[in-house]
Amino acid sequence: VRPATPAESARVLAVCHAHGQAVVPQGGMTGLVGGGAPRDGDVVLSLERLTRVEDIDRDGLTLTAEAGVVLQTAQERCAEADLELPVDLGARGSATIGGLIATNAGGVRVIRHGMMRDSVLGLEAVLADGTVLSSMNRMLKNNVGYDLKQVFIGSEGTLGVVTRAVIRLRPRSKQVTTAIAAAPTVDTVIGFLGLLHADMGDDIASFEVMWPEYDAFVRARCPNLRPPLSPGLGFAVLVETLTESLVLERVLAAALRQGLIVDATVAKNERERAAFWAVREGAGEGMRALGPYFVYDVSMPIATMETFGTPRSPRATRRPPSWFWATWATAICMWSPPSVRRPRAIIAPSMTLSTGSSATTAARSRPSTVSEWRSAPTWAGRARRPRSRSCVR
Ligand SMILES: Cc1cc2nc3c(=O)[nH]c(=O)nc-3n(C[C@H](O)[C@H](O)[C@H](O)COP(=O)(O)OP(=O)(O)OC[C@H]3O[C@@H](n4cnc5c(N)ncnc54)[C@H](O)[C@@H]3O)c2cc1C
Repeated sequence: VRPATPAESARVLAVCHAHGQAVVPQGGMTGLVGGGAPRDGDVVLSLERLTRVEDIDRDGLTLTAEAGVVLQTAQERCAEADLELPVDLGARGSATIGGLIATNAGGVRVIRHGMMRDSVLGLEAVLADGTVLSSMNRMLKNNVGYDLKQVFIGSEGTLGVVTRAVIRLRPRSKQVTTAIAAAPTVDTVIGFLGLLHADMGDDIASFEVMWPEYDAFVRARCPNLRPPLSPGLGFAVLVETLTESLVLERVLAAALRQGLIVDATVAKNERERAAFWAVREGAGEGMRALGPYFVYDVSMPIATMETFGTPRSPRATRRPPSWFWATWATAICMWSPPSVRRPRAIIAPSMTLSTGSSATTAARSRPSTVSEWRSAPTWAGRARRPRSRSCVR
């Protein structure tokens, strides 16, 4: 069903509710865990026609838009007003405002602006029975009572369908400098981040770490991507700062002197910047070519990174040797040979580490296509599906 307005969306849900019909909302279908994949008999509620950018308030720094507006479209409209959206990610060409809210997306600027939750000022959602809950607050400061919109952010469609939202905007960054540096160990990566924090504070826009296995994977499997540094230098760190390049170069030089990094290169123009980002964002095709895989979007305290993310650690090496493993940013990707049908038991020990910490941990997994969802009922991701599905009756 493709409603054209929020009101039509509410009517669809009311009718489905009256008939006990399960409904699954879909945005741009870029989610990595198959939450938008329907089962036989489900009604799909596509938000693709809710594409109205209602307002960009230059003084109040807000965007008011319908849920089906694609992130990149919203970014372009904001740029025309010399403003920018705080959340950005590789799926920008398809992911929708509603989907970003439903998944509480983080994205590549999370270190500066936080997650989607931090940028949603107001929203409108339709409950399973068609009731419209509207909380289209446009103000930064609003301390009136309970903040009910929060329960819909990150609820993955399980509590209702987001139809409209008000997003906080920022002035457009005037200067952006992008670099890739190589750090030999997790400790030096952390030291490098500390140095950047001490020197630049809030001017750090992105800090994306690609583990050595990810770097090796890109070099072996993704011929279109060209990592700018030599192979075998350790962890590749993509840094973006809202400063002129001289400022970042000065900090990189200090990091080299202190042994926190062993090499670095700064993008000289927009083409090089895009090539750097492609290394971080463009490995999806190579991963899909390896077969069905599990993606875990994991948050953990910095202090546990070494243990969790590095295959040398005793916990991580519990996986069978035939498993291939790559870690980058907050994602951990695992491939198994076809004979492995029950990965849950293998994944569980690693997950204990992070759920036992004080950090928020979101474990997400999925085969790569909808048909694989259907044909692989023993996958861990399949077992988790009911949590992410919107079976609103
Ligand atoms: C290349 C790539 C890079 C990515 N990078 C990042 C990243 O850096 N950080 C990060 O956090 N995520 C990342 N993601 C995942 C990202 O969170 C999702 O892609 C995006 O937020 C989902 O938006 P969507 O419109 O595609 O939603 P869909 O995939 O269509 O849906 C996702 C879930 O939300 C529900 N849903 C969708 N729309 C609504 C709505 N209007 N109301 C209620 N429920 C709804 C669906 O039922 C489903 O459960 C990446 C994905 C890709 C493919």
